[in-house]
Amino acid sequence: MNSLTFYFAILILACSHLSVAAEKTDSKKKKTLRKAAAHVHGSSELNIVASGNKFSITGSLPMDDIAGFERAPHNETESAALKSAFDLIKDGKLVAPENADCKIADPKVFVDPTFDKTITHYEVDIDLSWSCQSPVKNLKVEGFNNFKNINALKFLVLDQGKQTSLSLKRSEQKTTVSLSKK
Ligand SMILES: [Zn+2]
Repeated sequence: MNSLTFYFAILILACSHLSVAAEKTDSKKKKTLRKAAAHVHGSSELNIVASGNKFSITGSLPMDDIAGFERAPHNETESAALKSAFDLIKDGKLVAPENADCKIADPKVFVDPTFDKTITHYEVDIDLSWSCQSPVKNLKVEGFNNFKNINALKFLVLDQGKQTSLSLKRSEQKTTVSLSKK
């Protein structure tokens, strides 16, 4: 192999590595963009399904709305803040059924995928379900009081097969909302 051929061989090898690296970065970028495009800070839409005695709330919120940042925690203080935000949601302090003697079962609050430095707009996914003793008539919405960055919440409701939607704004200062209200 003469020195020129050797040089080209090295160059081709280097380029192929670079293009693999670029592809990897691209797929992460796409993921980041998808996450970023999917949410509006301060405003979230959640799904509520009431069926028989079962009541569930699912969906996602911008992580900024509940934690004040949208990346992996940088220190113990941020880790603790994130954990206590997750615990508040699991305790029904974002939104929960009111006055129907409901018990929450195995609440899930998480980020998906787990923290990755390239994603700068994380969302928090919630999956909460309750078993209730009577039909749920009202929602208890404490999210505006417990999370200062939440300004609007919309609920798409499927209540015993009937669809409605509810939109709430912080300025309305409501903590109880009838499920059947349009
Ligand atoms: Zn964001």
